[in-house]
Amino acid sequence: MADTAENIIPVRLSSTISSDSVNDIKGRRSQELIVGLCGAMGSGIKSLKEQMILCLKQNGYHVEHIRISDLIAEFSKVNTTSLNNYQRYNTLQDLGDKLRETHGHFICAELAVLSVQERREAIYGNDTSELTKNTKKTAYIIDQIKHPSEVELFHQVYKNNFYQVGLLRTVSERIQNLKDEGIESENITKIIERDRKSKNKNGQQVEETLQLADYFVKNLDTDVMRRSVLRFIDLIHGVNHITPSKDESGMYSAYSASLGSACLSRQVGASIMDFNGNIIATGRNDVPAFGGGLYTSESSKDKRCFNKNGCHNDRHKSLLKNEIKNILEKYKLKDADHLADEIMKETKAKYLIEYSRAVHAEMDAIVSLARNTNIGTTGNTLYCTTYPCHVCARHIVAAGIKRVVYIEPYEKSLALQLHDDTICQPDHSPSSDKVLFENFEGVAPKRYAKFFGYNRKRKDAQGKPINYSIEESYHVDTQYLDSYGDYESKVIQNLKSKFEINI
Ligand SMILES: [Zn+2]
Repeated sequence: MADTAENIIPVRLSSTISSDSVNDIKGRRSQELIVGLCGAMGSGIKSLKEQMILCLKQNGYHVEHIRISDLIAEFSKVNTTSLNNYQRYNTLQDLGDKLRETHGHFICAELAVLSVQERREAIYGNDTSELTKNTKKTAYIIDQIKHPSEVELFHQVYKNNFYQVGLLRTVSERIQNLKDEGIESENITKIIERDRKSKNKNGQQVEETLQLADYFVKNLDTDVMRRSVLRFIDLIHGVNHITPSKDESGMYSAYSASLGSACLSRQVGASIMDFNGNIIATGRNDVPAFGGGLYTSESSKDKRCFNKNGCHNDRHKSLLKNEIKNILEKYKLKDADHLADEIMKETKAKYLIEYSRAVHAEMDAIVSLARNTNIGTTGNTLYCTTYPCHVCARHIVAAGIKRVVYIEPYEKSLALQLHDDTICQPDHSPSSDKVLFENFEGVAPKRYAKFFGYNRKRKDAQGKPINYSIEESYHVDTQYLDSYGDYESKVIQNLKSKFEINI
């Protein structure tokens, strides 16, 4: 349970002996924030950065802004100031690719970590840097993250203090934004695609990075964005009595359902919500059981894939590869095995999913509703942790679902290509006569329990609500500065002092 900052005395861990070991440890909670921004090219990261800095400063934070593109240019000793916008984007993408190729995929994040340390020492001085982490509210805005490896390093270093904020904007708005920057149409397509998913393995992978966000913001207009950023900062500190939106609640149910899946490939979850916000069904991807539903850990004859010769989709794709190889050999082609491998990896064959034994999460949710209730699916919203495949998509349409909300993209899905007469996206022929597939906005499921859980006393002795300020609050997802070994030593130090006093 979180306490107000004034109740806890921040200390250097070994400086004093006390009778309250818990208080000693609580005093070692960090008050720093590391906020990584991520958004596709043209999504308006500059506005998000400005709002984030403004809102954090309003709430008593000292803010440092770290631009990774500046670090890349500086480290590569290239001056980009005289270039036009397209040349600058292109040059920075080239430099970033080269840096990752030469120094590994973590290099941009490593440079940012160095910058965080240098900034801290420049403000607070080297000798006090340890104490400043738990006494000064300081936020470092990392602008911006382009590769999943960078997210991984920030999480490893800063743990709970690191938050990734994902910015969402429709493709048409992003294109217009880049046009307004004076970039030619043919160049816009090139830099957007390279930014989204570079063919170079050392290149930018923003689509994959974006889905790792802890909080998703839609760039609709400045006021909406500011309100969303303020809500995010309130949630980090557990203030203002905030509860989940319908979408956050629906996605958390979907995520929770996904955890029941034992699929060897991936865990996917879905939930269906009615107009009033009630969850009326959930689903996960796994193997069906006789009598209805899917196998569970309590099934008497559990024949999920871990218990039945592994992944059958992989097995049948391997059999298909052998069939291709046999045909190539029949025509006396050299390296038939290698060629068959290439065909499986470089064609749509790599996307084959129909040999899987699993019922997909979306289908499981729809079938569960049909099997267990007479409520019906028409007009409801389906939440899914991953964008639906084209097979599920057509069942979602047939079920009368009105809206689909998802987090992860799914490259294998041809939902929009095959069913654009009945499915739309906010940036792809939106229409009230089609099922709307749209990105999730709000708190990602992985932070949901921390942000919305009861974290400290909410009412006073008279039962009146207590309102806390951000200035007096620690983060609800606590990050301690030391290892458990350090706390063990501290507790033993305090214990020994008690014996010396008592003896
Ligand atoms: Zn599916």
